[in-house]
Amino acid sequence: MNVIELANEAVAPPLARGWPNRFQGLGESFYTALPPEPLPDPHWVATSADCAALLGLPPDWAQRPDWQALQVFSGNQVWPGMHTLASVYSGHQFGVWAGQLGDGRALWLGEIDTPAGAMELQLKGAGRTPYSRMGDGRAVLRSSIREFLCSEAMAGLGIPTTRALCVTGSALPVRRETIETAAVVTRVAPSFIRFGHFEHFAHHDQPAELRALTDFVIAHHYPDCRDAPEPYAALLAQVTLRTAALMADWQAVGFCHGVMNTDNMSILGLTIDYGPFGFLDQFDPGHICNHSDHQGRYAWARQPNVAFWNLHALAQALLPLIPDPDQALAALEPYKAAFADALLARWSAKLGLRTRQDGDRELIDDLLRCMAADRCDFTITFRRLAAFDTEPGAANEAVRDLFIDRAAFDAWAGLYAARLQREASLDAERAVRMNRANPKFVLRNHLAEVAIRNAQAGDFMEVERLLNVLRRPFDEQGATTSDAYAGFPPEWAQSIEVSCSS
Ligand code: AMP
Ligand code: MG
Repeated sequence: MNVIELANEAVAPPLARGWPNRFQGLGESFYTALPPEPLPDPHWVATSADCAALLGLPPDWAQRPDWQALQVFSGNQVWPGMHTLASVYSGHQFGVWAGQLGDGRALWLGEIDTPAGAMELQLKGAGRTPYSRMGDGRAVLRSSIREFLCSEAMAGLGIPTTRALCVTGSALPVRRETIETAAVVTRVAPSFIRFGHFEHFAHHDQPAELRALTDFVIAHHYPDCRDAPEPYAALLAQVTLRTAALMADWQAVGFCHGVMNTDNMSILGLTIDYGPFGFLDQFDPGHICNHSDHQGRYAWARQPNVAFWNLHALAQALLPLIPDPDQALAALEPYKAAFADALLARWSAKLGLRTRQDGDRELIDDLLRCMAADRCDFTITFRRLAAFDTEPGAANEAVRDLFIDRAAFDAWAGLYAARLQREASLDAERAVRMNRANPKFVLRNHLAEVAIRNAQAGDFMEVERLLNVLRRPFDEQGATTSDAYAGFPPEWAQSIEVSCSS
């Protein structure tokens, strides 16, 4: 073992309390214990103060000489009591059973107790594991910065997600389409268990392990299910509802995940595994953010249905634990209504509606239809709508100018104004609410790209600046920041190609 374990007394609280790893308690059918592969001559790329605060770390956590955090979060050392391991899972990729996958480049470090409950820490890109298949176990700087920024951006948007504590980098070359350099992201979540973990034990006919895993998830993450008449069906029902809510969150903010394989679906309903994701620029419901997704299986508009498909795969995996298959179907059944309700609530908030009235769905659909026809910028259109003036005859130019078909917009604006009047909506008050529902700043591809190019040239300031903008996506943040980060994407943004390669 070429990883050094620091002396126990070197690590002060809260880190010295040991690294319980409850997942490890499940036994060796679930993982392989192994050390990270050392990363030569690492350096810091970025840290998230918000994530550190979530973990209860002191502000100087990354720099304390006695903690050696840079070495720990690049895979060169472990803190006392850390038992690093890679877990095994399987899954469906692009709708096809893919067999065994597993943590091919992620390592579980253990847990920290936080005010928000126990949090698992994981290194991503820490070297080969028994589940690496043909991969090199590494992650490149480009994809690590994308994962880091988007994790924290999603948290800023209030969308359930795994978090990211830091990125470390190295000059170690890594071969992708071109030669890039290695990086390690430290991610944080209450659990990294995926649908694919359940599929693994179901497919390999290991009912005892399947039951142990499911009991583990219920005990630690869904304790209410224990008292249900059928705890396993109750778990499926709760995961179904969380997944429906997550899909509504994604759709309402124009987020495309890009690789919604069942191994990338969190049992906690978190956004997980940031790869070729993207936020919509011009609104196109058929937008495909993953260049490798030739069929458009994971196009923006299809995400909610794909999640439902994935829930069926989870249900299939849980069937050995559920006495009657009808109970599994009944657990899935509320998905469509739950998703539709959640989505309507989010669109309503985006339009500043406080009540539900007949015709709201049509009003929303009409707006989306106009936006799609004119390829309006998704984020900017909704943000500008906050300033909508209901005064008869108001031109509402800021938002109107975004549409090519002005007559169509005017017709819609008339209906919208009438609808707002039906709930006696006050423009100023509504604008404040709408600005809390419609982000001004999202992680557009071109913004990430600029930060990545600078970082590849050794300048990490832009990653930090962008993180600082994205952690408060609903705030106005002043003219300079707006000009730099809230504008239309430049022409070259359309030529950015994001693939699975990471
Ligand atoms: P993804 O599509 O990134 O979620 O990855 C699917 C599977 O491939 C998972 O089992 C990953 O751990 C594995 N994988 C992806 N990239 C690599 C890599 N560079 N080295 C080893 N395994 C990888
Ligand atoms: Mg994955």
